[in-house]
Amino acid sequence: MDNYYDIIIIGGGVIGSAVARELARYQVKIAVLEKNLDVCYETSGRNSAVVHGGFAYDEGSLKARFCVEGNREMDAAAKELDFAFLRCGKVLVGNTDEDMEQLKKTMIQGEKNGSRGLRLVDEAELHRLVPAVVGKFAMFSPASGILDPFEFTVALAENACQNGVRYYFDHEVSAIERESGGYKITTRPEGPGETPAGGKGSEVFRCRWVVNAAGLNCGVISHMLGIKGYRVIGSKGDYLILDKKTGPLLPMPVYPVPSNTYMGIHVTNTTSGNVTVGPNAELVTDFAYYGVPRENMDYLAESASRLWPHIRKEDYIRNYSGILPKWVDENGKIQDFKIEIREELAPRAVNLVGMESPGLTSAIPIGRYVAGMIRERESFPENKAFNPVRKGIPHFQRADERERQALIAADPDFGELICRCEQVTKAEILRAIRNPLGVSTLSGIKVRTRAMMGRCQGGYCQMRIAKLLQEELGLRKTEILHNRTGSRLFFGDIREEAGHENT
Ligand SMILES: Cc1cc2nc3c(=O)[nH]c(=O)nc-3n(C[C@H](O)[C@H](O)[C@H](O)COP(=O)(O)OP(=O)(O)OC[C@H]3O[C@@H](n4cnc5c(N)ncnc54)[C@H](O)[C@@H]3O)c2cc1C
Repeated sequence: MDNYYDIIIIGGGVIGSAVARELARYQVKIAVLEKNLDVCYETSGRNSAVVHGGFAYDEGSLKARFCVEGNREMDAAAKELDFAFLRCGKVLVGNTDEDMEQLKKTMIQGEKNGSRGLRLVDEAELHRLVPAVVGKFAMFSPASGILDPFEFTVALAENACQNGVRYYFDHEVSAIERESGGYKITTRPEGPGETPAGGKGSEVFRCRWVVNAAGLNCGVISHMLGIKGYRVIGSKGDYLILDKKTGPLLPMPVYPVPSNTYMGIHVTNTTSGNVTVGPNAELVTDFAYYGVPRENMDYLAESASRLWPHIRKEDYIRNYSGILPKWVDENGKIQDFKIEIREELAPRAVNLVGMESPGLTSAIPIGRYVAGMIRERESFPENKAFNPVRKGIPHFQRADERERQALIAADPDFGELICRCEQVTKAEILRAIRNPLGVSTLSGIKVRTRAMMGRCQGGYCQMRIAKLLQEELGLRKTEILHNRTGSRLFFGDIREEAGHENT
């Protein structure tokens, strides 16, 4: 049976991909069903990109445990999987007696959780750590860091794929039925033109094990598995991205003193040299709306300027937002990560609910934990051919002069710049298109190479990239998509349609 798998993972975000990679260490047939056209289109690509220290979570919680574990192993993971990670530290800045009390509590909690090196710093030291920051004292967490969430997720997914995991994009799970020996899963294409389950474009998969790693849709998939009653609310956070000239002014993320449930609006340096400002926290019921209203942008800039004064309108280059799937109890209290197998309701289904922050930091240990739960119930032989090492696309912009010359000598396409702002070459675009997961959209190229992410936001290079996609994949112009099904870049040739040869 073609569509039979030992394990099917629903959701190709950072957590589904970490689970897939971990399970690929064993001799099992694994598929990931993802409703979007690529990994990382939802929460995993829409966050602060901070590798948290683990001090902000209740002692004994899974959030604390996995965050501390994930933080500790991030240097090794970055080396093995070739993604950008910078252990730059982070400060939580305070001014009042109440702030100091809260920071002391946070430090005690962090020490109990196993966060390393936390200490209070006075105003002078705070200014040595982050020049121009506004505040009287801070808690410094030297173990915190930043990564590129796209690179991280793509790296996990590519490595899973290289080790035999099959990714099915544009496969939205629309029904799950229990049957003898496992599950029958029905999918349909996502986006405009979608079909009801069983309709045209619908596919059936069968498996022994299912993993629900559906992020914002965890409650819906849980329900399909027969596990009812989870209340998952969305907390939407908006961000501004500032021009690269601000990056050198911010050596590490600067946060205000957190409350028990919200980290506050912070400024964060990125691995590519920009600065992000955000997020606010707005309860939402629409999990598909990612717009950022102008008044929210003003609010973010105003709030963050009280911490760090370098935020200017002329430096805004883009905004984005993400939505946290928070699992809450009947009183609205936010709960810990839930990772369970409910033998009585859905045997052989691992159900992950409420994988909000710090899900990015925690993804690798969560993957290991999920694999462990499955292996406790069914033993699989080791996959002796498993190779944990993945090589990413060499980034011309990050290379020094000698490395650039070597890249060009090995492949002359490194000598042709396609994206001027981010200095992305033709060789990088072609490698992104030919990557193991198969990239079919402009957005897929963007997150792998950073082309179109610079000041001009693709004004110069988008058409050239579209042409490369067209040539490489043998597509018609009208088949080139921005990100989702139906998000066509071209609707036809103006001259042909108008019937005027020479206009
Ligand atoms: C504003 C914000 C800031 C954050 N900051 C941080 C931070 O600094 N550090 C940190 O550690 N964490 C942070 N997080 C949390 C982190 O981003 C998430 O915990 C993590 O990305 C969750 O990964 P995931 O794979 O569970 O979810 P997702 O990335 O949402 O992946 C789930 C996937 O399932 C797919 N899917 C859903 N339904 C179906 C279906 N029916 N069929 C097929 N596929 C389906 C979706 O398309 C999606 O790709 C932040 C989150 C937000 C929103």
